[in-house]
Formats: sequence, structure tokens, C-alpha cells
Amino acid sequence: MKKFHSIILCLAIMMAGIVNLQAQKSDPAIEGKVKQYATVPLKYDVGQLEPDEQELMALFIQIADVMDDIYWEQTVGMAERNKLRRTADRNIVEFANINYGPWDRLDGNKPFVPGYGPRPAGLNFYPKDMKKSEFDALKDPLKTSPYTIVRRNSKGQLEVVPYHKAYERQLRRAEEMLKQAIGICKNEELRHYLETRLAALTSDAYEKSDLIWMDMKKSRLDFVFGPIETYDDALYGYKTAYEAFVLVKDEEWSNRLAHFSQMLPDMQKSLPCDPKYKQEKPGTESDINVYDVVYYAGQCNAGGKTIAINLPNDENVQLQKGTRRLQLKNVMQAKFDEILRPIANTLIVKDQLQNVTFDAFFNNVCFHEVAHGLGVKNVVGGKETVREALKNQYSAWEEAKADICGLFMVQNLIEKGEINGVSVEDAYITYMAGLLRSVRFGATEAHGIANIMCFNYMKKQGAFLRTEDGHYMVDVKKMRKAIEGWAALVLETEGTGNYENAKSYAAKNGVVQPELQKDLQKLSSKNIPVDIRFEQGIKQLGLDGMIKREQGPAKVNDDKYLRLRP
Ligand SMILES: [Zn+2]
Repeated sequence: MKKFHSIILCLAIMMAGIVNLQAQKSDPAIEGKVKQYATVPLKYDVGQLEPDEQELMALFIQIADVMDDIYWEQTVGMAERNKLRRTADRNIVEFANINYGPWDRLDGNKPFVPGYGPRPAGLNFYPKDMKKSEFDALKDPLKTSPYTIVRRNSKGQLEVVPYHKAYERQLRRAEEMLKQAIGICKNEELRHYLETRLAALTSDAYEKSDLIWMDMKKSRLDFVFGPIETYDDALYGYKTAYEAFVLVKDEEWSNRLAHFSQMLPDMQKSLPCDPKYKQEKPGTESDINVYDVVYYAGQCNAGGKTIAINLPNDENVQLQKGTRRLQLKNVMQAKFDEILRPIANTLIVKDQLQNVTFDAFFNNVCFHEVAHGLGVKNVVGGKETVREALKNQYSAWEEAKADICGLFMVQNLIEKGEINGVSVEDAYITYMAGLLRSVRFGATEAHGIANIMCFNYMKKQGAFLRTEDGHYMVDVKKMRKAIEGWAALVLETEGTGNYENAKSYAAKNGVVQPELQKDLQKLSSKNIPVDIRFEQGIKQLGLDGMIKREQGPAKVNDDKYLRLRP
């Protein structure tokens, strides 16, 4: 009986706890922030895969989760992560999961959890109290390595720790699963890559596995994982963050892009500019392929999601083999549906809305990538590369070039009957919708500046028109000429490599005009999402059956949105 009473008592306390929790108010501002991200399921018909590929995919996802854990170590550390996940306000928990920490990545990394200050510039890569003079005085040459962290030892002195030591415990888990994956992998290229990547993870020597990855041509599955991008080290930009993408190749689209890359030399000849700015012969072996992503983890899953991968970053590997560019089709589709379509519905005139299509969007984005190979790499009549000559102005002009030359290619290939299912009108109007999406955030980075310059140019030429009530339309006839004009201007800017011209043009024309700014505000007041987040994982893909008992329970997505209380 006594036992029974204590059970009742326990239940009563628990109930009170639940009621108490429900009474706790959620901050509506944070709720609004969570809603900036549209939730999208990452699905894939795994029935198309061979049984060993299904098993590999499940293993890759679990290895990706290890990368995810290490990334949390790199941002705030596990103790802080768990503390954040115990916050009573569910929206804070969700938003911290989206941002991998208490700082809002879409809003200049401002802290959104009470009690947290500004984001440390060096995150967890360096001691928070480290002074630059202290770092400068540190003698260890490995301090600037992309694969080490800096810590204080028990005497309070700075010490450099390699990643494979710092994250040894987690990496051992990854190692076990990688060995299993190698054991079942039937594709020789993929297996070779996994073997070299395993050696890399446990030694921090990544170059060999990067080189092997560059040679992977035939594997349907791909797995990008490890410490890769340095964006998060705002202190020095040295340290790489762990992340993972689990990918499946879209063979049909990949073959189509390979075919179009072969046409680059002809495309180069047809560019609407002075012959001297197109005298270089573009390479045709650029490696651009199309993938569906089934899992994002770590750095790439934090905040806004990328729709393309261009790797490796190792310059030695780039010099020997170039880079591989992966276009992430299902994620592009998600962004099109959740963001671009509603933006078009808000800002484009009704009778042109049917011309905003995913196929047109996908072509424009892919050809943007292909078109980076057009124009010149070296200043005409000079000794410098365009990149060296244009310095900090280079990125914006290079993006502007890829964008407009890509559209020019799409237009020509449609007219030649090479691209089907997309009309020239679709390409133009979807292109304008894409610019409106991009300029929404102003001139914060290279793509933004490039797109604002282009938008303003098109508007000035009368190719983009604005109705009195703030809707936009394309004048299809004027658009053709405007594309040629803008492409000529951009190609000339790169070809001459005149830094002062490039800079003053961008300063004058890379600014969102007040009229457009006002129209763009409609997007915020309509709560159109800014980016996406994923429902993803082994369960989502129907791969539960692939988890072996001895591996322990799979960490599936539920964990990502931890319950309020255990
Ligand atoms: Zn680009």
C-alpha cells in the first residue's frame, strides 16, 4: 500500500511538472525565427539501390552523426549542447539545434538564448580568453594547421592538439563503422576512397583521400565527410569544421551536364563580347555532376543550407586534379518550392507566373556552374590572373559572369533544341525570380552584389519592368539585348582586369534601390521562409532494417529535437 501511495505521489509530481512546463511561455520572437526555416523531408526511393548500397547508406548516416557530434564539440561543446537542449522553451531548443549553438546564423550571429554573450570569434577552436599576442608568441608550427585546435594545458599555457587526438573518442566510433562499410562495399572506387579516408580521419592527413575522391567517377553513392570548411573560424580562418553529406548520383542529369561541358569551346566563341575577351580555350573536362542528398550533418547542416558542393579545398589537390562540383538537385527543388515559388507569387505579375518553373531554375543554376569556365582566366595583355587583378572585387564579378553567361548558354541551347521542356521565356522569368530571391538580403556577399548589379542593369535597359503596385515582369524582347549587353560589360571588366573600374562600378550599382527595397519587405511581412531545415535520417529513408543489433540503437532524427524532459 505504501508503495502504491508513493507511485501516486510520483505521478502527481510528474503531472504538476507537465502542467508547469505547458504554462511556460514560448518567446514569440524565437518562434518566428524557427519559422524562417521551412521544414523539408529528405527522401529517397532506396528501392532503387542495391542491398549493399542500402546497408552502406545506413552506415554513412551513422558515421555522419559522429561528424555531427564533433561539430557540436567545435561550436559550443557537448556540455553546453545538452544544457541548451534542456531549455524549457521548445522553440529555443529547436533554434539552437538549427544553429548548432545559441547564435543566430541568419542574423549576424546574434545570441538568442538569455545568458549567452556574443559568439566567440574562434568558437571552440581556441581558448576563449586567448589573446592574439599569445597566439603569435606560440612556437608550435602546427598552430595554423586546419586540423588542430589550441587549448590550455594544466599550467595554463597554450598547447596545440591535433584533431585525431582531440576527438579521438568520437572518431573511434566512426572508425568502427567505416571498417564495416569497407567490408561490404562492392564498388572499387568507393571502397578505395573509404579506405584512404579512414586513414585520414585517424591521422589528419587528408590529401591522399582527396586525390582518390577526385577520381571517383562511377560510384552511385558518395559520402563527403570529415573536417572541411573554415567558415566558422572567424578569428584566423585556419580551422576546419566537421561535416558530412550522404549523396546519390543522378546519372541522367550528370550525363547531360557532361555533354554540355563538351560544348564550352563553341559556347565561348559565341559569347557576345569583343573577341579578345574570349581568346582562351575553355577546358572541357570539368567535373560537374548532379546528386540527391539524403543526409546533412555538422557544419553543412547549420543555418542556411548549400545547394552545391565544390571540393576539395586543398590547393595541392586542386592544382593536380581540379575540383569536383556537385549540384544538389533535391535540395534545389526544396528551396524552389518553399522559397522561390512563394517569392514569385508575391512579386511577379500574374500572367508570367506560369513561366517560373523548377526545370528552368535547375538549368539556370547548373549552367551558372558550367559558365564559370567561360571568358578569360588571365588579364588580356597583362601578366596577372583576373583574380589577382580584381582582388577583393573578383568574386562579385566572377559570380556575375557565371550567372549571365549561364543564362546566355541556356537561351542558346533551348533555341538549338538541346534543352527540352524549358522555353526561353521560362528561363528569363525564372532567372528574374532567382535574382529577387537573392537580392532580398542585400549586398552581403559576392553573389548578392553580383545579382543586384545585374538586376539594376536589366531594369535600366527596360528588360525588367515594375508595375505600379510593385510587381515585376520581363520584357522578353528587350531581355535578349540586355543579356548581351550585361555579359559584354562583365566579360570586359574581367578581361581588362581594371580594379578601379570594377570597384567603382560595383560601389555605384551594387546597391538595392529604395523602390525594390520596399517591395522586398512584402516577403518578410508574408513570412516567406528564408531557408530550409531537414527531417532526415535512417527512419525517414525506411532503412531501419539495415541497422545491425550489435551497432547499438541508431541515432535517428528524433534525437535532434530532444524532448522537453526525459
Ligand atoms: Zn558561382
